Amino acid sequence: MQMQTFEELYRRVLEMNRNRTDFTYDPSQMDALFSPRPHRVRWQLSDVMTEDDKTMDGQPVSKDAAAVLRALAEHQGRPAFVLVAPAFYGQFSDGVMPGMLRSAFHKMGFDGFLEVAVFADILTLREALEFDRHIHTKEDYILTSCCCPMWLAMIKKQYADLIPHVPPSVSPMIAAGRTVKKLHPEALTVFVGPCIAKKAEAREKDVAGVVDYVLTFQETRQILDMLQIDLTKQPNITREYSSGLGRIYARNGGVSQAVARTLERLHPNRKIRLNAQKADGVPECRRMIDDLVQGHSEANFFEGMGCAGGCIGGPKSLLDREDARIRVNAYGRQARYETPLDNPYVLKLLQSLHFTTLDSLLEDKEFFVRSFE
Ligand code: SF4
Repeated sequence: MQMQTFEELYRRVLEMNRNRTDFTYDPSQMDALFSPRPHRVRWQLSDVMTEDDKTMDGQPVSKDAAAVLRALAEHQGRPAFVLVAPAFYGQFSDGVMPGMLRSAFHKMGFDGFLEVAVFADILTLREALEFDRHIHTKEDYILTSCCCPMWLAMIKKQYADLIPHVPPSVSPMIAAGRTVKKLHPEALTVFVGPCIAKKAEAREKDVAGVVDYVLTFQETRQILDMLQIDLTKQPNITREYSSGLGRIYARNGGVSQAVARTLERLHPNRKIRLNAQKADGVPECRRMIDDLVQGHSEANFFEGMGCAGGCIGGPKSLLDREDARIRVNAYGRQARYETPLDNPYVLKLLQSLHFTTLDSLLEDKEFFVRSFE
């Protein structure tokens, strides 16, 4: 079974899914990754920021925002990519569609604008395969690793004995950065999200150098203002390549829902199904693991998010948490593909990275995995 190719798996899922008849896709939707069009920087650093990192009206500019502006101003000749967290939808005000944000980042000087949700799709598939490989009895369980650095740090520090139950998947941010650097080794990579902990994650020893800078939504807002880019006036360049489940990673429960639904697609008649327990906010995560350790939980899949509500409740989010949840769910529902296994762009990405069989993804020791040492 494991030597099955992804191509065969996708065909099988397509056949089971009777209301779909073909698996064609438009390669140009992922041009931003495979053949990004150069976008020249059309602003002068000295016109937007002082030498001591202040805006022209004297407001301080954060270290990372200043570093990104400098890197963009100097990056001519090598491609610059912005990797946007799944929580981005609706953050930059009503009526600003993803395609308008894409145009705005091009105006900043980024050549490629990538939604990290499609890399969440790959990690969902990997976690579903891990679940299928490891969960065979009522006693088996896994703790998802794939999203939140605060949750992982808590396990490493306070529950190190449980590490063998954590699949060694990288986060979608790191998967996106690694993919870009593999396809474009000279690329500048900047992740944009609601999270401060991601700044430290990007510097961790085993993944350092993959994501060059991490900006929060608040820092991004400031850069847009400094460059006088009015989001509401940007052309809406639409692209469609992430599944609905990849998009809802942004809110608590999203990872569990994504892996459970993908596992159902993979094995609709599996005897032991995914039974998730979820917690958000550090005290709740701690309570959940204590329950698990004391044998008070029946679940076999544990999802923890450091912030209440998940990433939409991240400390540098621009939106009220409930408002952000409504928008992220709506964006998930709008997706053309429901799961990673319906999404031909996931297959295309895996193949372009030379992951052709299920085994190759599960036995991978360096690309979509990390070391928790
Ligand atoms: S839940 Fe919070 S700490 Fe965890 S990745 Fe999301 S924003 Fe960061």
